[in-house]
Amino acid sequence: MGMTLDEARRRDKDDPLRGLRDAFLLPDGVIYLDGNSLGPLPRAAADAVARTVRQDWGQGLIGSWTSGPSWMDWPRRIGGKIARIIGAEADEVVVADSTSVNLFKLMVAALRAQAERPELLLEEGDFPTDLYMAEAAARFVPGTRVVVAARADILSRMGQDTALVVLCHVHYRSGARHDMAAVEARARETGALVLWDLSHSAGAVPVALDACGASLAVGCGYKFLNGGPGAPAFLYVSRRVRDGLETPLPGWMGHAAPFDFAARYAPAGDAARFACGTPPVLGLAALEAGVDVFLHADCDALFAKSGALFAAFQDGVGAGLDCLTPTDARARGSHIAFRHERADDIIADLAKRGVVGDFRPPDLMRFGLTPLYTGFGEIHRAAEMVRACAIWRQG
Ligand SMILES: *Cc1c(COP(=O)(O)O)cnc(C)c1O
Repeated sequence: MGMTLDEARRRDKDDPLRGLRDAFLLPDGVIYLDGNSLGPLPRAAADAVARTVRQDWGQGLIGSWTSGPSWMDWPRRIGGKIARIIGAEADEVVVADSTSVNLFKLMVAALRAQAERPELLLEEGDFPTDLYMAEAAARFVPGTRVVVAARADILSRMGQDTALVVLCHVHYRSGARHDMAAVEARARETGALVLWDLSHSAGAVPVALDACGASLAVGCGYKFLNGGPGAPAFLYVSRRVRDGLETPLPGWMGHAAPFDFAARYAPAGDAARFACGTPPVLGLAALEAGVDVFLHADCDALFAKSGALFAAFQDGVGAGLDCLTPTDARARGSHIAFRHERADDIIADLAKRGVVGDFRPPDLMRFGLTPLYTGFGEIHRAAEMVRACAIWRQG
């Protein structure tokens, strides 16, 4: 069962992406399978932040906003790089705020644009912040009611009453991935808008927003994009819908010409109309280093390796564990989840042995399998340890 250690070593030797690991500073002796919660440190991020602090801030002072590094352009410029990873045009993506705040802005905008439709539809058990923000957005747009449906019922629940559907493309617990093209096709049929949360997708699986006819998306900078703790998030608004959408938080950075200091708000022509206040430059410097790693990599090869790591891990853990994640590579993300009544103990046992995964109450353990810096040898070792710890904790 599973690949042998020799096979794993051979696959590492033959892996064309192997060199990408050197782009990261990882502690020795640690097998890091939690990049789905916090990506590791890209080497270039440490330098970029230091340069931004000492040179651009220290020496350039206020001039750095508009010349030299030109910080003012960073949310659009880095948004344009993320756009390439998620299948969008540069002017459809901007880096701003946190995922939670971006969810709120886009939810309210979409609900107001579809005011004749009363329903905001979400998936049961989706990420808490999405559910909380939906309740708040609904209170903001009178007449809206929040409907929470089981995953299997989402498509059939979409109808003439649906204003907006908010879905996590890859589920944070199970790792199950929605078929974006199919959901968007149903959305076109019913006239609903869909807002995708790409927090567990961007940098983890192929995403083709424009090709699927998507309208709205948000996502996280500090998970698979490796942008650092609390990295700014991004949002996507397609060219097709943006002129009809107004941000509920019209800060000056979303203005068409912030430095005109005009008395009246006029939205920027691109996705940056959903920006709000002054961008967090130090966070952006780190995020860009994380995003740049992808732009130097062949994404098809990356996502293929993610599938191979997954298969190897699942194989190595064996059939004795209850795996929640779909086996079909097209129907899952880049993490794998198992249910076990002693999941918290197993994750603690593994951490003592240098394998970092995470525990989600009440009984879930998750392991992020990130092709940028994880090798088959590590997967082989980690899977053996997971299996051994699970058997041991079974008593
Ligand atoms: C991680 C995550 C978030 C994070 O939101 P923040 O505002 O950055 O804290 C949101 N949605 C999903 C699905 C996530 O996995």
